[in-house]
Amino acid sequence: KGARELLGVGELVTGYGAEPVLHGINLQVKQGEMVALLGANGAGKSTLMRALAGLHRPVQGGIHVDGRNLMHMRAEEIVKQGVVLVPEGRQVFPELSVLDNIRLGGFLYPDDIEARTEDMLTRFPRLRERLHQRAGLLSGGEQQMLAIARGLMSRPRILLLDEPSLGLAPKIIAELFAALDRLRNENMTIVLVDQMAALALALADRAYVIEGGRVVAEGTAAEIAADDALARAYLGAH
Ligand code: ATP
Repeated sequence: KGARELLGVGELVTGYGAEPVLHGINLQVKQGEMVALLGANGAGKSTLMRALAGLHRPVQGGIHVDGRNLMHMRAEEIVKQGVVLVPEGRQVFPELSVLDNIRLGGFLYPDDIEARTEDMLTRFPRLRERLHQRAGLLSGGEQQMLAIARGLMSRPRILLLDEPSLGLAPKIIAELFAALDRLRNENMTIVLVDQMAALALALADRAYVIEGGRVVAEGTAAEIAADDALARAYLGAH
């Protein structure tokens, strides 16, 4: 599916201080693909996601979207290129209402806010029920849906999701993954980091396994799921 490469990462190196955390990451994501990034805690997945979003400065390598080099762009410029990160830990504005959190995500396209907000509330009916409540009062799952809705408001071409299921109950994870499946069917390009590797692989087209800041395996989601060694390392716990 989707023959055209939308995101390309080449030999990406970055770290904190002198010590590299990513030692030359290569990956490609095609338009409309969902790609899962798997790997143990500390492998560098969040660092990679933050680098893609311009929140962490890469030291070396390349990040291209649709052929355009993102390496030296600021985070706001990268959002304008259509790369949107829904960060680990959701980070909604707890004192603002659900509605205001959603609307904030639409700041780049003010003419479109009403229609897109309505789309989000259709997509996530739980948010409509809580529209005027403070976001800090939502359950973890509802906050995650809100964070995704806020991200979608800026019309991403590539949605980066960092640990969306973290700390959520199985029932709400199922609801969340159903929403991701819908986005996928709408041809959204998605990069998903999630500790629920079996669920992520069930949804993803392809996957990369990252260990110690390097890609150690890549393949179709089915290939990665069928690899015994990887299954023991990443799927066994769930
Ligand atoms: P997790 O699932 O635990 O978030 P991860 O694969 O996303 O794991 P990262 O969060 O990217 O991994 O962390 C990779 C390495 O970088 C770890 O060794 C971590 O301790 C280190 N690290 C992450 N953030 C910082 C920071 N702000 N300052 C210094 N070191 C950091």
